[in-house]
Amino acid sequence: MQSEPNFFQTVNIYIDQAAALTNHPQGLLQYIKACNSVYHISFPIERDDGSIEVIEAWRAEHSHHRLPVKGGIRYAANVTEDEVMALAALMTFKCAIVDVPFGGGKGGVRISRPRYSPRELESITRRYAYELVKKNFIGPAVDVPAPDYGTGPREMAWILDTYQTMTKPDPDVYGCVTGKPVELGGVRGRVEATGRGVFFGVRQACEHAEDLKPLGLAPGLAGKRVVVQGLGNVGYHSAKFLQEAGALLVGLSEYEGAIYNSAGLDVDSVVAHRRETGKILDFPGAVNLASTLEVLELDCDILVPAALENQITIHNAPRVKARIVAEAANGPVTADAAAYLARKGVLIIPDVYLNAGGVTVSYFEWLKNLSHVRFGRLQKRFDQTANTRMLLAIENLTGRNFGPEVFQALASGAGEEDLVNSGLEETMIEAYNAIREVSLRRRVDLRTAAFVLAIDKVAMSYLELGIFP
Ligand code: NAD
Repeated sequence: MQSEPNFFQTVNIYIDQAAALTNHPQGLLQYIKACNSVYHISFPIERDDGSIEVIEAWRAEHSHHRLPVKGGIRYAANVTEDEVMALAALMTFKCAIVDVPFGGGKGGVRISRPRYSPRELESITRRYAYELVKKNFIGPAVDVPAPDYGTGPREMAWILDTYQTMTKPDPDVYGCVTGKPVELGGVRGRVEATGRGVFFGVRQACEHAEDLKPLGLAPGLAGKRVVVQGLGNVGYHSAKFLQEAGALLVGLSEYEGAIYNSAGLDVDSVVAHRRETGKILDFPGAVNLASTLEVLELDCDILVPAALENQITIHNAPRVKARIVAEAANGPVTADAAAYLARKGVLIIPDVYLNAGGVTVSYFEWLKNLSHVRFGRLQKRFDQTANTRMLLAIENLTGRNFGPEVFQALASGAGEEDLVNSGLEETMIEAYNAIREVSLRRRVDLRTAAFVLAIDKVAMSYLELGIFP
């Protein structure tokens, strides 16, 4: 079997390909590519049966050109140092693409989450956070973790608590981690942010009739047949928002199996079925697929891999029928497979842009934590009063009424969630347009364009800092 570059090599290939299209000094490009620091930790935890297990974990800080560095923490059975470094590098470029002023970081803990009880997960998380605090690998000004594969708000709350317990009182302490529960300084809209961002990105890609024509597709999301791999945080929310916009979910998969229905699947009903029966299979009206990977080969318009890396390889790429591959996960398509699909005319919306909604809203959460005030608190009521006055004046002048529902919709001021979602929408649209512009001007695919854009921005920040005169 032909061997392919691993995930770390794949990310480096993408960086090199884009770097070759820029005019920055070689030394600067080498520095932009290099991982600035990696911390590898081994620590013991006591299992519920009294045995001791040694856990391996990492935190990589890819680029300190902007501080803090930012990136999720992954709990997965096969995490490696290379993988964490690759993910940290992606974060550097991702932040640059969406104009989030952070360097890139990533954490990984090598555990298979389902094998551990909540108490064991809490000891692992707290001990990991303790190790990060000891070595200054976490803090509102240095390195701010967030959820990733296998982690969520609960783990972030444990990290915050451990950090707070171990450090001196600091009014900005809540900014040491994002993706926290709202009651603990989290921001409304963070949980669904990555999936919502995926939706905005796919919607934007489907806006341009001239881009879709060569794919044999009409503009717009309505009626597009979509397949989603993985129904975790990113997959579920991507599926939900795409479905709400009129797309037809024809295939869904989880690690235990995959289902297909050409007439469409309702994602909430599938999730409820999985919760009740313990598996996605045997969903009423749907066909079970023989293997989870088969979902990638279904006849559809848009394929959304939202689980893990290296899912579409040179081996199964020839059987991929989708016209658009929307990389909701990090690294789901290998470099060889991406090149093959590009030759086949498939449009790949790259991870380094498409799943940046998570870090964008994490940035909003961090801003909220540093400013100590909920978004919208100062102006919501003011806007509502001003809007109401204006609407009443219009009603008086015209002698007609809007009716209670329309009146309320027009009068209401924006709350935190409205502002977060609108900031996210603006960010994803602007970033897509910027990448598309580079892609058209330089005649390169969207991924190369995204990396060129990001490298230019990172290079500029080093020049601004005077590091490379
Ligand atoms: P998650 O743990 O919430 O969900 C992942 C889901 O994928 C799980 O339900 C798991 O059972 C399923 N899965 C695992 N192997 C599978 C397989 N072979 N086929 C089908 N399903 C499978 O993780 P997540 O946060 O949704 O992350 C998913 C991907 O998105 C990762 O690549 C992650 O790095 C990336 N990402 C996440 C965020 C975020 O905010 N959570 C942000 C950016 C990128």
